[in-house]
Amino acid sequence: MPLISDPLLPWALSDDSGTKDSKKGVKRASSKRRRSPLKVVNQIPKRRRREIEDASEEKSSSPEAWSRKSGQKNHKIERRTTKPGVVRTIPFDLIDTEIGESWSIPITVVHGTRPGPTVTLLGAVHGNELVGPQALTFLQSSQILGEGKAIDAEVMAGTLRIVPIVNLPGYRRRTRYIPDGRDLNRFFPGRDGGNTTQRIALRLWEHIAKTSDFIIDLHSAASGRTNLPHIRANLAHPPSSMLARAFGTEVLLDGLGPRGSLRRVSNEHDLGCITFEGGGADSLDSDAVQVATYGILNVLRYLRMIPGYPSSPRFRLLASGSIWIRSDHGGLLDVLAPVGSVIEADEVVATVTDPEHARESVEIRSPGRGLLIGMATHPFVTSGTPIGHLLPLKRGLSTIKSRLDEDDVLMLSGVLEDPIWREEDTEDIDLESLDEPSPDGWTSVDDPMLEEEDD
Ligand SMILES: [Zn+2]
Repeated sequence: MPLISDPLLPWALSDDSGTKDSKKGVKRASSKRRRSPLKVVNQIPKRRRREIEDASEEKSSSPEAWSRKSGQKNHKIERRTTKPGVVRTIPFDLIDTEIGESWSIPITVVHGTRPGPTVTLLGAVHGNELVGPQALTFLQSSQILGEGKAIDAEVMAGTLRIVPIVNLPGYRRRTRYIPDGRDLNRFFPGRDGGNTTQRIALRLWEHIAKTSDFIIDLHSAASGRTNLPHIRANLAHPPSSMLARAFGTEVLLDGLGPRGSLRRVSNEHDLGCITFEGGGADSLDSDAVQVATYGILNVLRYLRMIPGYPSSPRFRLLASGSIWIRSDHGGLLDVLAPVGSVIEADEVVATVTDPEHARESVEIRSPGRGLLIGMATHPFVTSGTPIGHLLPLKRGLSTIKSRLDEDDVLMLSGVLEDPIWREEDTEDIDLESLDEPSPDGWTSVDDPMLEEEDD
């Protein structure tokens, strides 16, 4: 990924503010200009491939409003104002009602002292997808940028709007849907006077999405499945392609997104918007949370909103299509190849047994060589149930194989280090300094029992 020069990103912090920030920043700086190879794994039509290449080369100039010269203004969501250099959590009503339930959700605004882009981060548009809410919580940790360093509005350029739980009524009921039974991510940009979900979609569209420059929407696989952390984006849309590459996952799935999805509608209005997919609904995959959190930091660093350098994966797989591996039998599933596995054609990925016919079992084999980017987690299967989501691999196999662990599972670049929010100050307890009188039978280090255990 090339460093963007200052004229293109006029709000940018100077380079040296990044290198001083952490050891990681210094280490990454040297490899910064190496663009990681883009591997096309599927047969993307030639014209589409050219569009994607054009999009990733395009350098768009920044709006005048982001220039340092223009100064920073107050940030407004509806009537609520946030001053430059301030972090503020404000309530936002999903529905405009005078009486009764209005479903107020919290939005944290981190409003930098310098002008720059407005980036909106959304979690739990589907109420039971918890990787987003967790990642957006960790992002607000007091040490996310290193010991004692939170994202600091005082040194930040631009504005961050963090919405950990968009579909709060769904989250509280532990379901994907809005309480009227509809999928919010199929009803953008919403409709005035429409059904409940359309009204919510309209308010989010008007006050949150449309007023953003970039949107990152965090999702997980539907109930009963899990996803390898990856990005879905329209890679022929330059701002979205930029976000997708900057996020730093190994796998990028190209596509417009479903009709009525926030991503698709945002792109139609020329807003950069990507979807992160990782883990599964109703569960918390710690790797997915980490990839999502660090991916967001990568984007903020790439946009020069916060100090430091973004990290890039060793390679990127760009894919336009994928294959579902389905079970032809009903029963209980035993998964043999975890998500992230590189499997060969005809390899057994799972078996199905049926307690009613206990002496028989059937194998589910892969139709081709590829990377498993999704896998069933729910053991109940019937004939036709999708159990694996396969990205066929036709190119770049040697590069990919160099990044597999001993079980042939892809090592994701985002999870090689311990997550910063789990690093704690370790207290050393010196047992020899205990001067309390010891209980009988435990009187001294000469105790033969103690020596025996010391091996
Ligand atoms: Zn989702």
